[in-house]
Amino acid sequence: MPLKSLTINGFKSFADKTKIDFTSGITGIVGPNGSGKSNITEAIRWVMGEQSAKSLRGDKMVDIIFAGSATRPQMNHAEVILEFDNSNKELKSDQNNITIKRKLFRNGDAEFSINNKSCRLRDITELFMDSGMGKQSFSIISQGRVEEIFNSKPIERRSIIEESAGIALFKQKKTQAESR
Ligand code: ATP
Ligand code: MG
Repeated sequence: MPLKSLTINGFKSFADKTKIDFTSGITGIVGPNGSGKSNITEAIRWVMGEQSAKSLRGDKMVDIIFAGSATRPQMNHAEVILEFDNSNKELKSDQNNITIKRKLFRNGDAEFSINNKSCRLRDITELFMDSGMGKQSFSIISQGRVEEIFNSKPIERRSIIEESAGIALFKQKKTQAESR
């Protein structure tokens, strides 16, 4: 399922609103050390529902908001928008174009939307679940992750296999039903 565009505003080093249009084929991102390449992949993971600040190299989630520099003040919120071509219906939606948005304010307030309709974080997570594109799936492999998968405990490795096999959504729904 092709990515169409990514818009980053106030996320980590991206103080200026930045839009990346993805064309067909493979996209490579190049740049010097510290220029923000990993921040781009983290922005993608974040808008797709990442909940671990640690895995985004921070202590608290608000650490992802632009913290200011010598020449610019810190920002009050971060916003990331990711647009997908869903014409092959790989995501759990009948729409051909899907745009997800996540916004976080310094006071902790958060906003999520799918196609401009306000939603919960869980709705975004469920959209990707079992598509093989979840935040933890093999579609996004960060620096050091391959080694981490090899060194992980059997139970952690099992959850990666379950997501790839497409049963993670049913397991989550079962847990939710049992806790009601
Ligand atoms: P490398 O080639 O070394 O992997 P990279 O291109 O992947 O580098 P990133 O790790 O994406 O670089 O970017 C690191 C930069 O992002 C650092 O300069 C860091 O200060 C900056 N940064 C991270 N979080 C924030 C934040 N909240 N506010 C401002 N800048 C931030
Ligand atoms: Mg990097």
